[in-house]
Amino acid sequence: MKHSFVCGNPALDFAGTFGSRLGVPVELFPSPESLDSWFRESGIVDGDTKFRPADHEKAIRIRDAIYSLVHAKMTGSAYDGDALSIVNDAARTPPVLQQLTPDGRQTEATPAQALSTVARHAIELLSGPDAPLLKKCANHECSRIYIDRSRGERREWCAMDPCGNRMKAAAYRARKREEKLVPAAGK
Ligand SMILES: [Zn+2]
Repeated sequence: MKHSFVCGNPALDFAGTFGSRLGVPVELFPSPESLDSWFRESGIVDGDTKFRPADHEKAIRIRDAIYSLVHAKMTGSAYDGDALSIVNDAARTPPVLQQLTPDGRQTEATPAQALSTVARHAIELLSGPDAPLLKKCANHECSRIYIDRSRGERREWCAMDPCGNRMKAAAYRARKREEKLVPAAGK
């Protein structure tokens, strides 16, 4: 698996394919084929969606729009009008097609149908009960946004690897520095 799905909603995982991780710029959709693999790995489709360059551009626009809307929701600001139109337009296309088979289920989609499904996830998320649980990763070098469903809303990072491990190591180093600066009493 090349992609990770840690954010609690496919629209957030989709938006999280761009930004930064540990201070390094991330672009997980460099090509149309990378979208095919993301949709396959996400479980949204079974086969290939066959993204072409024009669909790739559209996907990037939808990704930017979702990130903008999510960010607005988190910060309590108004939605950007263009971002709203882009996500709503994408959601107007029928979503992925699911068919029951003797062995289970077959899910197929064109690029437009796959993107519609992601846009619909974004709409449900932003207008639903999970919206107040949106949180940005506590690692300031990470741009991922996730849903914090933990008890007491104590989750701090998108994933233990790499962000949680990195944050814990930094906290440990800071504690060690403190101990050196303030020697224990009696020494
Ligand atoms: Zn993170």
